[in-house]
Amino acid sequence: MVTHAFFELLKQFFSDPATNLFPVKHAPANIHQTLKKVEAGKATINPPVEIPPGFRGKIEYDREACIGCQMCIKVCPSETIEFLPDERKVRFHMSRCTFCALCTEICPKNCIRMSDQFIMATLDKNSKEMIVTDSGNWTADANKEAAAVEKKE
Ligand code: SF4
Ligand code: SF4
Repeated sequence: MVTHAFFELLKQFFSDPATNLFPVKHAPANIHQTLKKVEAGKATINPPVEIPPGFRGKIEYDREACIGCQMCIKVCPSETIEFLPDERKVRFHMSRCTFCALCTEICPKNCIRMSDQFIMATLDKNSKEMIVTDSGNWTADANKEAAAVEKKE
């Protein structure tokens, strides 16, 4: 048992870090001053770690493709998705999202997906960045690509 723990500890010394030191190598006391230093070329921003496939970032929603069936609302565990009855569309309040991806799986039009965007820190949970209403019309192309892959297989 002790040997196993020691071995694991030793392994950590030689592995790459799983998290990114962000935005610079050492946590700054003042982020504004640090960003000014970056602008002046006196500090360098760490490049982000590579985002793995299947990463669950900020929701993207193809409003045009949505048929207003509300299936996504039924499965969402955190009441992130609001139905807009007049338009028969939805919108997403990202401050409530738990990034479970259930809505993306249930949507019959495949018009919800999770992007690789992970920087969402804000003081205003109702800011326009935090409420997803329309991320453009990407569903048709994505469905075509998926059909082409299926055909090949
Ligand atoms: S990812 Fe999960 S929590 Fe977020 S909107 Fe979809 S179902 Fe709701
Ligand atoms: S499940 Fe898809 S089609 Fe149905 S309301 Fe939600 S986003 Fe629109």
